[in-house]
Amino acid sequence: MLARAARPAGTRSLATEKRFSMQQLTFVGKGALEWRDAREPALQSAREAIVRPFVAARCDGDHLPLFNSVTTPINLGLALHYLDPIVRDLFGEQPFRGPYAFGHECVAEVVACGSDVRNVKRGDTVIVPWSISCGHCVSCGHGLTSKCSNSGDTLIAAYGFGGAMGDWGGAVSDSLRVPYADAMLVPVPAGVDPVALASASDNIPDGWRTVAPHLQRYPGAHVLIVGGAARSIGLYAAGIAVALGAARVDYLDRSRARLEIARSLGANPVQVPATGSWYRKNAPRRGGDYLISVDASASVAGLNFALRSLAPGGICTGVGYYFAPKAALSLMQMYANCSTLHVGISHPRADLPPLLELMQSGRFRPEKVTTLVADWDDAPRAFLERTTKVVVRRAPLDGAAAGAA
Ligand SMILES: [Zn+2]
Ligand SMILES: [Zn+2]
Repeated sequence: MLARAARPAGTRSLATEKRFSMQQLTFVGKGALEWRDAREPALQSAREAIVRPFVAARCDGDHLPLFNSVTTPINLGLALHYLDPIVRDLFGEQPFRGPYAFGHECVAEVVACGSDVRNVKRGDTVIVPWSISCGHCVSCGHGLTSKCSNSGDTLIAAYGFGGAMGDWGGAVSDSLRVPYADAMLVPVPAGVDPVALASASDNIPDGWRTVAPHLQRYPGAHVLIVGGAARSIGLYAAGIAVALGAARVDYLDRSRARLEIARSLGANPVQVPATGSWYRKNAPRRGGDYLISVDASASVAGLNFALRSLAPGGICTGVGYYFAPKAALSLMQMYANCSTLHVGISHPRADLPPLLELMQSGRFRPEKVTTLVADWDDAPRAFLERTTKVVVRRAPLDGAAAGAA
């Protein structure tokens, strides 16, 4: 077992540890995560904060580099035009090549604030969204906080993706710099366990945006979730749809374990043999009765199935990576059915306030999706478990202020 170099519990790094004073979980390559020493970030402006993560989760998207050698195949696919060239803009010249600070989902304790920070203070427990956002540009004003225009030169600025997304550090670190503390950080509400919010930085709001706004438009709608590659996002979407009053939520997957979780969330689990051919063969020709559908299979076949299953006027959201430069979609059927398709990244900062209200009500329990809670020090091993949702935790420095369970 890989172990993290010990530091006495509850101590802060000393000023004498100048150059390398913290540890960060570092992605080295397929199947390889390590604790490595890194320079501790410092405040660079009065509006910034430094936070210490104490709960962190693995994002569904992390499966790709953790369990596959992807850098060379992606580069080859780009050279042969099998992949969309935007992939290079998103993930850089050497996509997912380690080493880089890993992770972009965490709950943290505020340890230092610049003098202009008003909304959070030292000791607060906060959700740190995966992407950098200023809170006042046009994109942020439109709720597209992951497309903030004041977040640097990268296409997306985020934690946990190395230089391709701005070298902001990783969420499984002793210390993280937050450039727009007031705009980005979201305090954990009273009575909500930070461990349950481990994926509130990304995957839980990613599920939320696929169903919540559409259930406002179509209260009590039938919802279809095609589960799979985006393992937890599909389940979060199912649980949120149930909690928000969907009359029926059908959750399709081939994983028995995930189907059981879907059942525990109040959805109707439907076992399918496999993604791909089954979806192609069984896609309804004239539409179904779902006003809302979600493709979490990250496959074009799954996406088409979700699209073709829509009732007239229905809305489908695809949450996966669709790497190909083109995809054969059922545009004529969409035309005949008046369907809407939305694909895109999540914007947690915009969606967290109503999502946290729902969580406070107790009607949606994201912790049911978590399949492994491990000790923080065991993160290099735990994040390589082939399971739906991995969370690591340690004690906050100030337990009382942080409200940790
Ligand atoms: Zn993510
Ligand atoms: Zn902005």
